[in-house]
Amino acid sequence: MGRIRVLDDPTVNRIAAGEVVERPASVVKELIENSLDAGARSIDVRVLAGGRRLIRVADDGSGMDRDDALLALERHATSKLDGTTDLHAIDSLGFRGEALPSIAAVSRFTLRTAQEDGNGTEVEVRGGKIIAVREVAIPRGTTVDVAGLFFNVPARRKFLRAEATELSHVVRWVARYALAYREVRFRLEHGPRVMLEAAPAESLVDRIREVYGQLSERLLPFSVDRPGLRVHGLAGRPVESGPRRDGLQLFVNGRVVQDRVLAHAVREAYGNTMPRGRHPVAFVFVEIEPEAVDVNVHPQKTEVRFSRSGAVHDVVREAVASALSREGAVPDLSDLRPSGAAPSARDSIASSALSYFESRRESAGNESWREAGASVPYGRGPSGARPAGQGTLLAEGPGVAAQPRVAPWVPLAQYRDSYIVAEGREGLVLVDQHAAHERVLFERYLEDAEEDRVEVQRLLFPLTLELAPDRAVVLEEELGEFRRLGFTIEPFGGHSFRVDGVPSVLGDLEAGPCLEELLGEAATTRSATAGVANLRRKLITSAACQAAIKINHPLTDAGMGQLLTDLAATENPTTCPHGRPILFRLSLNEIERGFRRR
Ligand code: ADP
Ligand code: MG
Repeated sequence: MGRIRVLDDPTVNRIAAGEVVERPASVVKELIENSLDAGARSIDVRVLAGGRRLIRVADDGSGMDRDDALLALERHATSKLDGTTDLHAIDSLGFRGEALPSIAAVSRFTLRTAQEDGNGTEVEVRGGKIIAVREVAIPRGTTVDVAGLFFNVPARRKFLRAEATELSHVVRWVARYALAYREVRFRLEHGPRVMLEAAPAESLVDRIREVYGQLSERLLPFSVDRPGLRVHGLAGRPVESGPRRDGLQLFVNGRVVQDRVLAHAVREAYGNTMPRGRHPVAFVFVEIEPEAVDVNVHPQKTEVRFSRSGAVHDVVREAVASALSREGAVPDLSDLRPSGAAPSARDSIASSALSYFESRRESAGNESWREAGASVPYGRGPSGARPAGQGTLLAEGPGVAAQPRVAPWVPLAQYRDSYIVAEGREGLVLVDQHAAHERVLFERYLEDAEEDRVEVQRLLFPLTLELAPDRAVVLEEELGEFRRLGFTIEPFGGHSFRVDGVPSVLGDLEAGPCLEELLGEAATTRSATAGVANLRRKLITSAACQAAIKINHPLTDAGMGQLLTDLAATENPTTCPHGRPILFRLSLNEIERGFRRR
């Protein structure tokens, strides 16, 4: 007797649930998709406790009869495909027939549905088993209740994050679909709070205004038509960039997707106008003939594959770039590269700034900045909440906006897009924005490296580095250190190396030139002679300098405030890692003396 057997349905459904249902937001997403597929004009989402206690999605769509209501809970049961449908011609959001049975397998699930007013069916399911079916008098449409998600999968339940985190994911999914289907009314309530309310909107801008408010006024429209392909949407100016990747929202044929090719194209359109580690705010809609895109590549249906991805990439880049080049949205950047000059006589200025800083620190106490710095809403990355990433300098993208945090200095203006003029207790402070950001990045990167938790960003296209023989030797010998710094590098034969990932702190800095620069640094500071700690500081100094915002880069008020707050939280806010001053002050005393008031 063999040992292999076919799994029973409940087991299969729970396995599928592992892929399809990751968290409350994935339930919300699947249910909204079903409502949209059912032709709903109005979708109401209600969640309790971030969706852990209850998720309810109610629509006014086509509804189901009793037989279908039961069939819908069977695995691979779908009304959206039949044996003859070409998988490439799918025009519905769902097609896998997995969502309902998967969700019902891991929750206390109730489906209420009616094809006409007053004549409906209710099906109750507990952990995948149907426990009751009855007739109910409800209006036309479908309501699904998902209570106690993962009540029977404790391992999964443990992975759920704090209520606020789960809620933020739910909000994002509802917002995404609200943008994709602006003719449908959406409403999201969390307990007694209305989180989102959107009436059918005439235009995308109107919908964005309903969902994200003011941001809509500042976005730049674009639209490019090609045979079989249309790319349109709205893009934020570089200064609207946010620290989160999800400021970029991508839609392909009404489907919300995460797609590396499209994201890459958008980033290229922004080019080097984007501060390092920042992500653009843009809403990009791709309408493409269904045969040219495969939607069946991911269980959660959030990824697609284009048959001609290079062409799509280029049209998207062109479309977004066209928006940015109008109205002078691309600031004139000049790339300031510190020459490495010695600090010398500036020391006295730096130390006077330091004394200012310290008196301020004493009077204000540490809490206000430190606490504030750590309160990034919905902290990013698996390492959990961390002080505001390198990226909180500019206005927050859409989604949950960060509260501006208290800075010891209040920004008044930005001079020549390069220097921040700020008001302090005892006078005016002038801050070099590039040097300040360098300092912030340097300290965070160093701390992460010391604790061996540098966040790595995988490269879309792995890079092969052909090095000069002497550089190859340096890299080979210091490979361990480069890896610790977040570079995923493998020797690739001869003097070549393959680079698969770079530290996230580098943002969209080009990996090749950046590494070359670091290798130059390493060649003059080998760890064998200077010690590992010294080499590390040198490399991180160079990386921070390359990644920091440049001068001639406009910042928002909130961004300036954030930079000053982040700077104040560093150990050494007065000199950049190269040793040059970051800020100096003009005291009230000096101002008054200058005006002969004293
Ligand atoms: P899929 O969406 O991939 O078909 P689901 O498991 O999500 O699979 O849903 C199964 C079937 O149940 C759908 O094909 C549809 O016929 C029906 N269904 C689900 N939700 C609704 C709804 N809100 N209104 C009407 N029919 C629905
Ligand atoms: Mg579905």
